[in-house]
Amino acid sequence: MNEKELIFSKGKRKYLFCTDIKGEEFLTSLIQQVVVEKVPYDYYIFKQEMDTFIDTWFRAQKMGTYLYIAGYWEFVKRVQKLAVDAGFTQHEMQIKICGPIKKMAICCRCHGVNELADERQITCMHCGLELEVSDHYSRRLDAYLGYNSIN
Ligand SMILES: [Zn+2]
Repeated sequence: MNEKELIFSKGKRKYLFCTDIKGEEFLTSLIQQVVVEKVPYDYYIFKQEMDTFIDTWFRAQKMGTYLYIAGYWEFVKRVQKLAVDAGFTQHEMQIKICGPIKKMAICCRCHGVNELADERQITCMHCGLELEVSDHYSRRLDAYLGYNSIN
């Protein structure tokens, strides 16, 4: 999902474009298409944390609004959470992450969250348990599940 290029989702009532400085270039061609189609849109480039503004902006939207978020991992994840809280579903948005993607793994014993690079074996930073990172991804937790590795 994250590595894919953004695709123009035709036929929506309105489009929202939300980016930091890093993600701007990925939205340009989409915005051009929206302008050609003469569909209403909002476009904001955020240079600092503006969660209250974004939250209010999202909550003011009507049904049929489609959202694009592009930028650094931290930015995209933060805005995505605000969007979900405001009622957007995964089918009403596309995201593009620029730069490194951070993965999380949940410990099977203490349920603590561990940040991952690309390693398959980690030691839980919360309880010290040796964990093997599985391919089981929990959308709800936004993390991979870590199992106790048996040596
Ligand atoms: Zn643990």
